[in-house]
Amino acid sequence: MPETILVVEDEISLQETLVYNLKKEGYTVEATGDGRFALEAARRLKPDLIVLDLMLPGLDGFEITRILRREMTTPVLMLTARDDEIDRVVGLEVGADDYMTKPFSMRELVARVKAQLRRARLMREELGTQALPAPEADILTFGNLNLNLTRREIVLDGEPLAVKPKEYELLVYLARHRGQMLSREQILQSVWGWDYFGDSRTVDVHVRWLRQKIEADPAKPARIVTVRGGGYRFEG
Ligand code: CA
Repeated sequence: MPETILVVEDEISLQETLVYNLKKEGYTVEATGDGRFALEAARRLKPDLIVLDLMLPGLDGFEITRILRREMTTPVLMLTARDDEIDRVVGLEVGADDYMTKPFSMRELVARVKAQLRRARLMREELGTQALPAPEADILTFGNLNLNLTRREIVLDGEPLAVKPKEYELLVYLARHRGQMLSREQILQSVWGWDYFGDSRTVDVHVRWLRQKIEADPAKPARIVTVRGGGYRFEG
């Protein structure tokens, strides 16, 4: 069955171009230019991916993602006209899975759509295998900070923290390389994957969010330290 993509874009010519190019790739595509219709369409269609413009009439992309995040795990590829919104777009506040800044090439957009759908498929397969009986909990401990690898949880002072999957994966990756300097590029490739097109700011944003959660003083990080001219190092 072809995968379904919901396109939410109020610039009609861009919407048409998106629909045309995605249909050409064999996807089932539905489009709307209004934020409120987008919510309704997402609930009805349960699409495999949403291409979502940030600035929309009705409800904007931030609000739509916030609402949908509570209801579904569908990957969101956010379109933004403004570079300075990227922190909010990839950060916890919105939690888009990927973003593109306008103008962009259709070739790149299609490549990113494919990458997101591939990741979502892998996640589903992984979740399928996780339904097997749980092994003994595998836990990494750093003082009052525990990473429960079985439950995919970050626990601080005995309390599980609310984190995005990428924050969890990033912290596990850093923790597994404790004491080692890791460049942003290394982190990006290992945690986000080779097919992720974002830049190293994505890493910085996620480190910042993690620090706010696990550091005693996020302004003077002692766990995830910045290495001058390099990247980051997990100290424990
Ligand atoms: Ca718009």
